[in-house]
Amino acid sequence: MDKYGILKEYFGYDGFREGQEQIIDSILGGRDVLAVMPTGAGKSLCFQIPAIMLDGTAIVISPLISLMKDQIYSLKENGIPAAAINSSSDREALQKTYSEAYDGKYKLIYISPERLDSRTFLALASSIKISFVCVDEAHCVSQWGQDFRSSYLKISNFISSFNERPTVAAFTATATQAVRCDIENLLGLKNPDTVVTGFDRKNLYFEVRKPKSKLEFIKEYLDMNRDKSGIIYCSTRKNVELLYGRLSADGYSVTKYHAGLDAEERKSNQDNFVRDNIRIIIATNAFGMGIDKSNISFVIHYNMPGDIESYYQEAGRAGRDGENAECILLYSGRDTAVQRYFINHPSENDELSVDDMERLRRRKLDRLDKMVEYCMGRKCLRNYILSYFGEVRTNGCGNCSVCCGVRETADITVQAQKILCAVARTKETLTVGTIVDFLSGSETLAAARRDLSQIKTFGALKDCPEERIAEIILYLVRKDLIDTDSGILKLNENSGSVLFSGKRVFIPYKSESKEAPPASEADDDLLSILKKLRKEIADRRNVPAFVIFSDSTLREISAVKPLNAAQFLRIKGVGAKKAESYGQIFIKAVNLYINEKM
Ligand code: ADP
Ligand code: MG
Ligand code: ZN
Repeated sequence: MDKYGILKEYFGYDGFREGQEQIIDSILGGRDVLAVMPTGAGKSLCFQIPAIMLDGTAIVISPLISLMKDQIYSLKENGIPAAAINSSSDREALQKTYSEAYDGKYKLIYISPERLDSRTFLALASSIKISFVCVDEAHCVSQWGQDFRSSYLKISNFISSFNERPTVAAFTATATQAVRCDIENLLGLKNPDTVVTGFDRKNLYFEVRKPKSKLEFIKEYLDMNRDKSGIIYCSTRKNVELLYGRLSADGYSVTKYHAGLDAEERKSNQDNFVRDNIRIIIATNAFGMGIDKSNISFVIHYNMPGDIESYYQEAGRAGRDGENAECILLYSGRDTAVQRYFINHPSENDELSVDDMERLRRRKLDRLDKMVEYCMGRKCLRNYILSYFGEVRTNGCGNCSVCCGVRETADITVQAQKILCAVARTKETLTVGTIVDFLSGSETLAAARRDLSQIKTFGALKDCPEERIAEIILYLVRKDLIDTDSGILKLNENSGSVLFSGKRVFIPYKSESKEAPPASEADDDLLSILKKLRKEIADRRNVPAFVIFSDSTLREISAVKPLNAAQFLRIKGVGAKKAESYGQIFIKAVNLYINEKM
């Protein structure tokens, strides 16, 4: 089967993204590759497809066990034999993996860099046919990058241990020239085909905020985005714990992740997040490299990170499924001080000389300056990031807080009080629509209901556009400050806090120029049925939901409503294996839904 066939058959996609085809062709042709593509661009496919096509087994060196695990789940789900060799496998499982590997059963074997010089592994590598060697997250080899790992330095020895040098393909999302050079030199790439794709992630919206209270901002945001999944990054464990304490006490669906938790808790918290049992994870930067969760709708930085590389990589974990997603950085001057402290108090590093340490420190301070400049938000945020990575643009992007002219949260306390007051004075008898007319002083309403026009708050918000009044009312309903009962507005036990106790109400300002992409019309009712079904299947198989189907695939199913296998196969993200495993169940659900609706 050719690469197009495999893309469709195993992964269910109709076309390649930028750069993918060229990389695959180079690997197939036996040429080394250095691929620089942003997070979410689809690097995995670039080595998985040649691994499937070539004879033998591809060795994939990957820094984190969790990262391997998710990829192997997905590969198996797509019908591709793959395994991992790492320190978390128990002896028995490892033995089985080895014996199957000797039989040439796997198209891909993932290994952590620490294991590269293990005798057992070297013996295996020298006796089976290796199709090529892939180095994922290759920037880890560079001390100038943001997550250097000394075990990555073992890779070049490993490569030269072969009698016949295998093709080497290196992948990274870090594009700065210094890191690129290091990868080429330290891995010993030979005349690599260097593929650098655009760094822009069009579906991500960027925003910088300096809210008076970061906590309040986050609560407002979470209230406005109730069924979305997201990450909140903090710069310290202490902040993670604090924020976690506040948000969980207020009943938000949150979990936490940092290096101070024991391995078991970290793992279970991560699993709960990845499997959509818990909507939000609060984490230090220890959380991430291993996360392939594709349906993350927002990444909020509670603190500014130390450099643009880290920021773009962390923020880039949003919207991997191509859906619109938001990346919001909450900045305060203190963040700069904290980062500067980190830089000036580095952890011991035996492998670096004093001079090198000093050079490293200076570079980090330079990078910090750039990060702070980003937060000042003087020009288009996206263009700032892209130019940092060497891509120059002149026009504003139209999809960042600078281009959209976003203001901070609006204080709507006065409007809220007038609305609640109007509901009280009209004796809780009116619908949302009538209250809007009432507050804007509609003449039609006055003509129809003279009694209402006599009441004191009639027309109290006449300077406010009607849509805005309606928006605020709906926001109050969502914030549980007022109730609706069959469309009639009623005060509730929280209303008094605004009316009498001076509770202030803020509404996040949403930019209006932001357009949703012309997605096919999803059917929300069917979509939620499909999501439930997906969750059931995922839980039964003990895998994350997005491994079964991504959100965008479910959305397309809900829009297209496939009624037979052929139609089902045409959905983006459905390959042969998945159609076989899940086609019937999902088609049945669609059928049932249509029958009930008609
Ligand atoms: P990266 O490693 O570059 O951060 P991944 O390999 O994890 O990105 O891919 C991100 C997402 O993009 C995955 O959900 C993957 O299935 C999807 N993807 C990759 N290639 C394509 C393609 N050609 N068409 C549609 N989706 C794709
Ligand atoms: Mg990747
Ligand atoms: Zn912009």
